[in-house]
Parts: sequence; structure tokens; C-alpha cells
Amino acid sequence: ITDEKQNDDVIFRSKLPDIYIPNHLPLHDYIFENISEFASKPCLINGPTGEVYSYAEVQATSRKIGAGLRKLGVKQHDVVMLLLPNSPEVVLTFLAASFIGATTTSANPFFTPAEITKQAKASAAKLIVTQSQYVGKIKNLQNDGVLVVVTDDVVPEGCLRFSELTQSEDIQVNTEISPEDVVALPYSSGTTGLPKGVMLTHKGLVTSVAQQVDGENPNLYFHRDDVILCVLPMFHIYALNSIMLCSLRVGATILIMPKFEISLLLEQIQRCKVTVAMVVPPIVLAIAKSPDMEKYDLSSVRIIKSGAAPLGKELEDAISAKFPNAKLGQGYGMTEAGPVLAMSLGFAKEPFPVKSGACGTVVRNAEMKIVDPDTGDSLPRNKSGEICIRGRQIMKGYLNDPMATASTIDKDGWLHTGDVGFIDDNDELFIVDRLKELIKYKGFQVAPAELESLLITHPEINDVAVVAMKEEDAGEVPVAFVVRSKDSNISEDEIKQFVSKQVVFYKRINKVFFTDSIPKAPSGKILRKDLRARLANGLMN
Ligand code: AMP
Repeated sequence: ITDEKQNDDVIFRSKLPDIYIPNHLPLHDYIFENISEFASKPCLINGPTGEVYSYAEVQATSRKIGAGLRKLGVKQHDVVMLLLPNSPEVVLTFLAASFIGATTTSANPFFTPAEITKQAKASAAKLIVTQSQYVGKIKNLQNDGVLVVVTDDVVPEGCLRFSELTQSEDIQVNTEISPEDVVALPYSSGTTGLPKGVMLTHKGLVTSVAQQVDGENPNLYFHRDDVILCVLPMFHIYALNSIMLCSLRVGATILIMPKFEISLLLEQIQRCKVTVAMVVPPIVLAIAKSPDMEKYDLSSVRIIKSGAAPLGKELEDAISAKFPNAKLGQGYGMTEAGPVLAMSLGFAKEPFPVKSGACGTVVRNAEMKIVDPDTGDSLPRNKSGEICIRGRQIMKGYLNDPMATASTIDKDGWLHTGDVGFIDDNDELFIVDRLKELIKYKGFQVAPAELESLLITHPEINDVAVVAMKEEDAGEVPVAFVVRSKDSNISEDEIKQFVSKQVVFYKRINKVFFTDSIPKAPSGKILRKDLRARLANGLMN
């Protein structure tokens, strides 16, 4: 990192040189740019079935699916929703949509019908690709004219069969795609409020993938001979970008696993000789605690990369001891940032020494600064402040929400993360706190505003605030401070059940604390810091 002064800002950059990034190319052309060198290589392994797809097959099939989507009426700039567990169809549909200039928005198939509907409506999804078991959740959308395609053999009434899309001819007319067109639309609550559509463009994702795997130091992250584990949910941008797109770009093999189950995971690592395990802290914890570790030969693993939530030093040390041949390091991402801001240089071809607890070094072709949250001044090394990033990889903005966009990306192009951290003398970034309200349950986003807006609809709740509470397995869980309405005796359980029915499992309220009032600033903003302090001090009421 060089810390150069610019308009009095202290700006941190990668200590590796910038690289050429062909971000004029549409994402799919960039991803398949070098495919002739590895066309017959295995690209995808479907974990549960063992079925293998070569690179040539993935490219040809996704083009055909693109043509098939077009036949169904999906046009350039239309939105296709993926409501799928990890499966080859996620990769094929995402690429297909990219080929025809459409946008993909992914949602968690475990979402409740209300959560899916919100995202589908907000993104104006025209077609949903899912499995028959989830069709019941989207009946209302189907009745409103949204097309539903199922990837399995059971085809419920009114749905189309995915395999028929692959029967189409190849794409006839190639679409003119601008680098500024939106190719992925993940949902994230960002620093405040409800989940919003994050517009990631062709240019942005090409830049982000290149920052991770391209250039002079091409083995920076992983390479062609790697077998990359994909057990993290592909509806989240971390897996979509840092596993799927990065692997495709370098010609590696992706082992796709639809769900996390520790012994199955260890068995698959052994069987497929996985070399790179992309994980999140709860998976690291499960591996570290697993009594089955010794039963498997896991010596193929050369990289373990954790991201999406903080990984404590003890956990890092515990896992390093179990995988002596593997390099362990972190990546730091935020959906809006494209998502990767920093990653460990311990993975480089000529690795740099890395410290335990660090979440990486800022990626190449990007600028980072640390800002005093009170004064807005940029801070030097070793001083904590809000982490800000600038570069072509960041989002174009939030869909249909210029206000939220303007409060996240400032007029000079800096994206404000809401995370607090510092950069040390060896250029490593450490995250120490979070200014934003976001709660992270095992790396999954929980937006307090979403739960508050649900809770406040309850007639016996007068006021409410939801904040994070530390918890060993999940990292954080949502808890609610509730002001009951006059004469109400509503119980903790009743409140929990009221929420459980309406949200996916990780957004469930873990504890309810009854209180007389919610601390607020004169503007009406909830003083979450005060509530977090109450939790830390054991003063809940
Ligand atoms: P998401 O947009 O769902 O990827 O969530 C982004 C947020 O996750 C970041 O703004 C951080 O608060 C948190 N996060 C991601 N990676 C890390 C990491 N390596 N260490 C600590 N927190 C992280």
C-alpha cells in the first residue's frame, strides 16, 4: 500500500501494481475469453449426482438457454429471478441472462412467500427459475403473469421445464451490451433501511473478478488446476463472484454443493480433491469442532478463504492447526462494493506474510481510505475509522433509490461501507466494529429495519428496535427491544412466533427485552449504539 495525499485525503492502494482490466467487454465474453485453452476441462461438478459439465458444454448450453429465455419473451434489461439452491442451473441461467443482456436477481429459496414477493416485485422480475418444491411460494406472482421455469422433472401446472430451454438453437442475434448495463441485482440493506436492489454492471463485475484473479500475478487467488468448493449460497454475491465467476475466468473446476453438512463436506473434499475451500466463519467453526476430521484425507486443500463476517484469531489458529498444508486467509466484501474490497496477499504466487485477524489488503485498481465518522477527515495508518472504497468495481447504485445511493456513494465516488477498521504498518486491514445497523447471522444479512417494520404492525407493540447480540455459533443474532402498548401483556414467545411466521429462519428474533422507551435522537433515529451498550452491560430494560 502506498499512502499518497490527495486533496488532503490519505489514500491507500494495493502494494501490487495496477493491472490492465478489459472492462469494456460484456461479462460473459470476459469470463470465456480464454476458454479455448481449457474447453474440454471439467467446469462444474454437481456434488449430489457427480455429473460433470465441461467448459465447452457450459458455454454452449448457457447460450442455448439464453436463446430459450429470449423465445419466452425475456428481453435485454429484463430481470430473471433465480430461486434455487446451489446447482449447475444457477451458473447456466446467470450466464444465459448475461448473454442476452438481461439481469439476474437471486433470492434465497428458503425465503417466505412474502420475502420472495417483495424482491420479485421490487426488481420487476419477469421470469423465475426454481424447483417444483418452491412453486407453492410463488403462486401469487405466477397469477400476476410472472413466468415460472422449474429445473426438476416434476413440472407443476402452468410451469415450464428448464430442460426445454436447452433445446433451443444457439443465440442468433448478439445483443449490443453496454459495460454500464446491469448484469446482477443482489439485494442488500447496505448501511441502513430495508433491502435494496444493488446494481452491479458488466464493467463492475469484470473489474472485480480481474482484481482477484488477473494480471502479472495470476495465481493471486486460484488457478486452472484448482478444484474450488462452492457450498456457500450462490444467491449471495460472495459465492457468485468470488467462487463462480473467478473460477470460470481462470478455468478451474467448481464443486457445487447445495447444502452444508459437515461429514458430507469432508467426504466430498477428499473425493474431489478440493484445493480451495471458500467458507464463512460458522463453517470454519464446524470444521474446527468436527470429530470426523481425522477420518478423511484433506491434504489436497491449499487455500482456505473465509469471508462475509469476522473470523476471530482463535478460530483462525484452530483451523490452521488442522490444515497444516493450507494457507488460511480472509477476504472482506460488501455487496455494494462489488463485493470484494480486500483479500489476503498470503494467497499470492509469491505470498506476503499475513497476520492473524487481518481481513486482507485492498484489491488492485482501487483506492481505500479510512474516514473519521464525526469529522469526515481521512485518517492515517493505525487509526480506526469508516472504511471507504473507490474504483470501477463498485455498484452503479441502488435500483430506483437515488436517495439511498447518494447517502452511500458520495460525490467524489467513495462508497461508505459502514464498517470501522484500520490499516496497519504492513498494509493489512483490520475490521474492528460496524457503524451500520446490519446484523450478520452466519454471514447472512438481517436488516433491523425489516424486522422493526414487521413488529410495529402488531397491535400490542407500541415501539420497537432490533439490534445485534453476539452469539457463538451464528456470530450475531437479532434481538428486539419492545415497548408494549398500554394494558398489553404480550409475551416474548408470542412476539417471536409473530415474526417467525413471516421471515426466513435466520431473521427470527432470538430474544425480546421489554422496555419503557426506545432511545432516539431528536431526528427520531433509533440510538442503536445505546441499545448495544445496554446489551454489553447486561442492562436490558
Ligand atoms: P454482505 O453485503 O452481505 O456481503 O455484507 C457485508 C458486510 O459483512 C460488510 O460490510 C461487513 O460488515 C461484513 N463482512 C464481510 N466480510 C468481513 C470480514 N472478513 N470480516 C468482518 N466483517 C466482514
